[in-house]
Amino acid sequence: MPPAALFTEPASASAPLAVLQQVFGYPAFRGQQAAIIAQVCGGGDALVLMPTGGGKSLCYQVPAIARHRAERGVAVVVSPLIALMHDQVGALEEAGVHASFLNSTLTFEETQRIEREMMSGRLVLLYVAPERLTTPRMLGQLDSLHERGLLSLFAIDEAHCVSQWGHDFREDYLALNVLHERYPDVPRIALTATADDLTRADIIERLQLQEARIFISSFDRPNIRYAVHEKDDARKQLLRFVQDEHEGDAGIVYCQSRKKVDETAAWLSGEGITALPYHAGLDASVRKRHQDRFLREDSVVMVATIAFGMGIDKPDVRFVAHMDLPKNIESYYQETGRAGRDGQPADAWMAYGLADVVNQRRMIDESPANEEFKRNQRGKLDALLTLAEAHDCRRVRLLAYFGEASERCAAHQNACDNCLHAPATWDATEAARKALSCVYRFHQNRGQRFGAGHLIDVLRGKPTDKVAQYGHESLSTFGVGADVSEAQWRVVLRQLIALGYLRTEGEYNTLELTPTARDVLRGEVQMLLRQATDAPKRARGERGDRGGKTTKATRGKDKPPPLPLDDAGLARFDALKAWRAEIAREHNLPAYIVFHDAALAEMAQAAPDTLDALGQISGVGAKKLEAYGREILRVLGG
Ligand code: ADP
Ligand code: ZN
Repeated sequence: MPPAALFTEPASASAPLAVLQQVFGYPAFRGQQAAIIAQVCGGGDALVLMPTGGGKSLCYQVPAIARHRAERGVAVVVSPLIALMHDQVGALEEAGVHASFLNSTLTFEETQRIEREMMSGRLVLLYVAPERLTTPRMLGQLDSLHERGLLSLFAIDEAHCVSQWGHDFREDYLALNVLHERYPDVPRIALTATADDLTRADIIERLQLQEARIFISSFDRPNIRYAVHEKDDARKQLLRFVQDEHEGDAGIVYCQSRKKVDETAAWLSGEGITALPYHAGLDASVRKRHQDRFLREDSVVMVATIAFGMGIDKPDVRFVAHMDLPKNIESYYQETGRAGRDGQPADAWMAYGLADVVNQRRMIDESPANEEFKRNQRGKLDALLTLAEAHDCRRVRLLAYFGEASERCAAHQNACDNCLHAPATWDATEAARKALSCVYRFHQNRGQRFGAGHLIDVLRGKPTDKVAQYGHESLSTFGVGADVSEAQWRVVLRQLIALGYLRTEGEYNTLELTPTARDVLRGEVQMLLRQATDAPKRARGERGDRGGKTTKATRGKDKPPPLPLDDAGLARFDALKAWRAEIAREHNLPAYIVFHDAALAEMAQAAPDTLDALGQISGVGAKKLEAYGREILRVLGG
């Protein structure tokens, strides 16, 4: 790692915009960054709700650097993710910012050295886990810094971890209220990509941020395309999706169980895709190795349970696929949000079927939680099911769930599946009535209950053994639905369950009417359902307009550049990537931390031949220009 740089610039160098341009090499702030940074630089508290990829890190890094340059000492960043601190700090050091972390992976000597840097006030940013921050030793050190006016700010990353409502609750986060009590004059900035009201209220209360200014960004991720597919043969559908649309791309595939993670990863590997499993049942060392490969290599597909993902800041994850239904919309949004941090087109893909609905409901029913909690979970699942069944804009529904109004995304470059191809619908009112009345007839018959398979057989008039055994040929509903295919019936049943007219019971998932079923039976509810067929496949090559995909045929498995480049440009891009790979290896960092693909592509396109011109490229800060400028010019000239 390069030696720490000390700043000796004049006072104006501490202006936030100067820091952004000089250190990070970006020309301008995005969205609310400027306002947030002004608030914190001015000594106020801030709560920042911004989607993944929105640019939260700069919201505390720029104030930390600016305040350090104004001789206010060290910023302390609380982060729950020890495994990622190394790379976060590495990125700052690459940009010439003196940063370190303190956690259990360090030796005694390393810890001592970093503590000395901190206590001298030379350090700009210190990353720590919450459990470490609140130890008496660390608090004693902070007291000393504070007395000397060398505590510049506290940043609390992944602030939703303080909320029991959220998905990542961490006991240790609760103790962070000590910061406000002990150091009331030190500004605090809490950041999260979690949007819901309950979590927000929890963060404010538990971290005592009542005085903080709250900054809420739009939660739209315009570069993500949302699509939900009928499950047919989910694995094959996944493979086709990865092969047709994401060859050579990095992606995440979420599965519900560890077993399914292992099986799916093995299967994809067998099909020639670099896929690695990740779940809590694997050894910590295996998990770390897989995570490192995912971060450091270009085209790894991580097949994982939800144990994987928080804080993963890999910018070029091109797709997130769900092989099973997530728990609720919050989880779906968080998980899919890990795609496309770099703003380039990315896919959120989900395969979904009747069994998903049944399983998720059963998991809630069988959980040991109390009734109130279960009711809450069921409500959240229902909201997700409505999103999955929707035949209108998914983006509008997703944002509406978080209280944000929006327009359908049809005109968008990355329109959702429903906007891209309006799904065929059919009037299933009659079919729904037939299905529900058949369930009713079963029940009349000595309270019997059956699962979806038998129900469909009866509706379609199929003479099975079971039909004979129960004498179901004589039911008035036998064969009334012969005109509807079996696949279509499954869709009807799935939607009846999803919409709460039917529920499943017990080990065999037998079907039972709910009180609202009566409204359908009476013909009071019109049911317009999606056709069972999958959305039309995009023709190969139709993605040509989404970045440089047109060049794929000639580039084999390589990831295409994020800008269209001619042949000479492509050659420069490849040369730059090879050079970057060497530096990344030397510094033991993921390549994107040295330079993003976007920066390399811009260099390849503009082919600057002076240091000044190179410095104009977005992402080339002063330190990187000094450290790498000459070599880059040589690579470009070569
Ligand atoms: P978040 O933590 O909100 O998910 P990051 O802080 O990782 O987002 O930022 C996402 C990406 O956007 C990063 O690659 C970052 O370098 C880039 N970025 C953030 N702010 C700016 C800006 N003002 N100009 C250019 N790029 C930016
Ligand atoms: Zn849409």
